[in-house]
Amino acid sequence: MMMAGQNRCQCCGKMFVPDRRVGARQKACSAACRKIRKSESDERFRRKNPGYWLGRYEVVKAWRKEHPDYQREWRRRRKGHWLKLSAGEIQADMFAKAIDAVQKNVLVLREIQAEMPFQPVDISGRFAAAPCRSA
Ligand SMILES: [Zn+2]
Repeated sequence: MMMAGQNRCQCCGKMFVPDRRVGARQKACSAACRKIRKSESDERFRRKNPGYWLGRYEVVKAWRKEHPDYQREWRRRRKGHWLKLSAGEIQADMFAKAIDAVQKNVLVLREIQAEMPFQPVDISGRFAAAPCRSA
């Protein structure tokens, strides 16, 4: 049953409480599911628009020739952005990245666990005789 304030993940199908800032617009439960949805969306785009990226390099090359300092400026601004952040903000950013990495690992571990056969282990560490399995 769908509870108020919960969404169903459009990637893995699990129910989740969306971020209050995103609400009903949030489609995926985690960064890992969001990444999967994004790569599927990119794949659909590439299938619908074959050749979209073809011939782009010449255009980019010409634009870069007209704006030779663009990248240097971009790097300088970006470096300034990091210098403006407080230690706490940098820590929060690193912490968010660490949580994303853990969530990805948990997803992979769950997939591996789902593929493993059920093997109860007794207290000695040996495989116990399972009722559904002949020894
Ligand atoms: Zn999900």
